[in-house]
Amino acid sequence: MSVSAVAADSSVCAPLAVLGRDVTVPLVTGGEVTYAALDYAASAPALQRVWDDVAAYAPYYGSVHRGAGYLSQLSTDLFENSRTAVAEFLDCREDDQVVFTRSTTDSLNLLAAALPAGCEVFVFETEHHASLLPWRDARVTYLDAPRTPEEAVQTLERALADREPHGPALVCVTGASNVTGELWPVRELAAAAHAHGARIVLDAAQLAPHHPVSVRELDVDWVAFSGHKLYAPFGSGVLAGRSDWLRAAEPYLAGGGASRKVARRPKEAGGGVDVEWHDTAARHEAGSPNVIGVYSIASACKALTEAGFDELVARERYLIRKVREGLAEVPAVRVLSLFGDDAPRVGVISFVVDGWNSSHFAAALSAEYGIGVRDGLFCAHPLLRTLLGAEAEEPGECGAPEAAPGEKSLNAIRVSFGAGT
Ligand code: PLP
Repeated sequence: MSVSAVAADSSVCAPLAVLGRDVTVPLVTGGEVTYAALDYAASAPALQRVWDDVAAYAPYYGSVHRGAGYLSQLSTDLFENSRTAVAEFLDCREDDQVVFTRSTTDSLNLLAAALPAGCEVFVFETEHHASLLPWRDARVTYLDAPRTPEEAVQTLERALADREPHGPALVCVTGASNVTGELWPVRELAAAAHAHGARIVLDAAQLAPHHPVSVRELDVDWVAFSGHKLYAPFGSGVLAGRSDWLRAAEPYLAGGGASRKVARRPKEAGGGVDVEWHDTAARHEAGSPNVIGVYSIASACKALTEAGFDELVARERYLIRKVREGLAEVPAVRVLSLFGDDAPRVGVISFVVDGWNSSHFAAALSAEYGIGVRDGLFCAHPLLRTLLGAEAEEPGECGAPEAAPGEKSLNAIRVSFGAGT
């Protein structure tokens, strides 16, 4: 059977059809198709409001914190007001800092670079590589994949209770899985962390686009997320939370903007330079910032808040139910789940189709049906190995390992969507 017949022969397209059709694109095989881009978990399309705000500002683009002219002042205001908008969106505490970064990966690497000496890190093996890997200079405890949210909390409690008292410790946990879409018990994990004297950072890359994230209510110490997954695809991210570790740390990048005062040290004192670093968010934002990216995040935060998460969550739940019901009717499809069918989740659904290599299947969905999905191991190799068992061998970094059509799945297909657009 040809690759293109894979999708035709399956009924997988039908449940995906409820997700709507987006843009018209040329088909590989000729002609045009209205294309459904169902890969929001990788990068979500910009909200119209974000396009409009960015387009309205673009003619006045100027440097931030670096000029007395009108354009520079305007850009500086937009940049700093965006910080306030993000703090409001995340319901931050009074003394929290909002640091603008490039992405969630960048935010977590920044926090990793700011860990106090001797800090231990606890992280579930189920995490995206962005949450799993930045801690390589710390002592890291990797926690086994739990099979229920309760087991996640118990596993963390046991690990924290077992640690030698009592230096600084950090727990890193995702709010919603980029593979299963399942929600993690963030509030309970935060309570467990704090009860054992540890802090917690929430990887909200997949949570923030779908659910309100309140730093205060969840009682997390930091939150990281990416603009491009929150309908603001212009290259910025956020790390927000407690200022003490960030203030005490060496600047993430050294350069202009991070330094308050720089002076040559006298030759008699050994030469070199003395630097006074800012102790605000600017400490970790050296260089000219990405004002368009930052402004677009603030715009998306406001748009989502105004649309109302209650409505967005309700609509997304409906879409999730329709897709899952549809997939359940296709016997060859196995939906991947850690916490079981009834677990609350966001619009991220991964599955394998028995007898088919996922990358061929995904290629056929795109070429023949105009449905764009993700295939591979989703930068979460340990989790995929748990979910697929021995099938997940020798993956590429985020891409798909090679296998012929008809072979067993070495990887999975992911459909992801949101109600924001
Ligand atoms: N965390 C999760 C749960 C993700 O899904 C991703 C990206 O897919 C990341 C972190 C990394 O995000 P970025 O690539 O924007 O840094």
